[in-house]
Amino acid sequence: MGFEFFQIEVTRNCSMSCVMCPSQLFKNKSDMDFEIFEMIANYFDKTKLIHLQGWGEPLLQPRILDMVKISRENAVTGLTTNGVYLKRFAEDLVRLGLDYIAVSISGEKTHAGIRRGINFSQVLEGVEHLIESKKKEGSESPRINLTFLMTVENYKEIESVFNLAVKMRTGLVLTNLDCVFDDKTYNMRVFDSRKSEEVSKIIKGLSERAEREGIFLKYPSLTSVESPVCDAMPDSAIVFSAEGDIYPCVYLNLPLDRIPRYFRGKMMLVEKPKFGNICDGLDGVWGSADYRKFREIFKERIRMSKSWRFRLGLGGFRIKPDAPRCCTGCYKLYGI
Ligand code: SF4
Ligand code: SF4
Repeated sequence: MGFEFFQIEVTRNCSMSCVMCPSQLFKNKSDMDFEIFEMIANYFDKTKLIHLQGWGEPLLQPRILDMVKISRENAVTGLTTNGVYLKRFAEDLVRLGLDYIAVSISGEKTHAGIRRGINFSQVLEGVEHLIESKKKEGSESPRINLTFLMTVENYKEIESVFNLAVKMRTGLVLTNLDCVFDDKTYNMRVFDSRKSEEVSKIIKGLSERAEREGIFLKYPSLTSVESPVCDAMPDSAIVFSAEGDIYPCVYLNLPLDRIPRYFRGKMMLVEKPKFGNICDGLDGVWGSADYRKFREIFKERIRMSKSWRFRLGLGGFRIKPDAPRCCTGCYKLYGI
């Protein structure tokens, strides 16, 4: 048993209320108990990477620094933050040797409206403070990436945020609004939309500049096409909820019995799988019949999509077998 990464939802608490965040669907905003974290830590020698974040702001977890320290002693460690507490924690995160940090950002004009709870200049102040702290310590880490979730409201500001990344020598990760849970979030997306072409042109120009400027730029596809498996790596990664429940990805980790998805204009409610909890021991949960069956479906889809029969169109055009039921309507399976 070895894993590419563990993602740990150290808290579900957040002081912000971003317009596209599914946290508006649930009231349970609990922190992970440190005992649960320690149970997960018993398996840290089995993973290459640990990402400390779920549906909440990790820097609100009361014992986040202890968690970073323990994780960092075992694997490459990072987290995603909304930036609200970055200034307060910058020095400690540098001192503990956090490997990477992703800071969510929108454009100067649109940030406050989309990421409600902090304005653009406060996020920048946090990032600048972190850069200063790295300089003071003479440290290369944490590696900083700005993460920009593209919507119809903010895509015209991608270039100005890219310029900022160049100026501050950070990376820039563009993401799609992939957790589409109602018509409102569906209408905010830029993929599969009339904006896709315009956004593609902006990204193409920036990817050429990124190469010249030596800036790390990552961006997703803007057209949904079914793939054999999603990039959440469900066969080699694990997400632990704040309660220690075990899931293959964050999209199934929402604290709801049924997950709302709005896929290609159609609303659906998808039953969430129950694979188990860290209290049952990771080996038992990972090796359970249901979890093995879930992973086997993806392996079979990968095998099928690589077969000559499929490539020559002799096995039909649809990837078979169908994805697990809990993955129905998930845009991640369509490269988004
Ligand atoms: S900062 Fe993150 S967790 Fe908090 S509301 Fe925004 S998207 Fe959700
Ligand atoms: S397809 Fe979606 S729901 Fe299924 S494992 Fe991948 S990210 Fe999770």
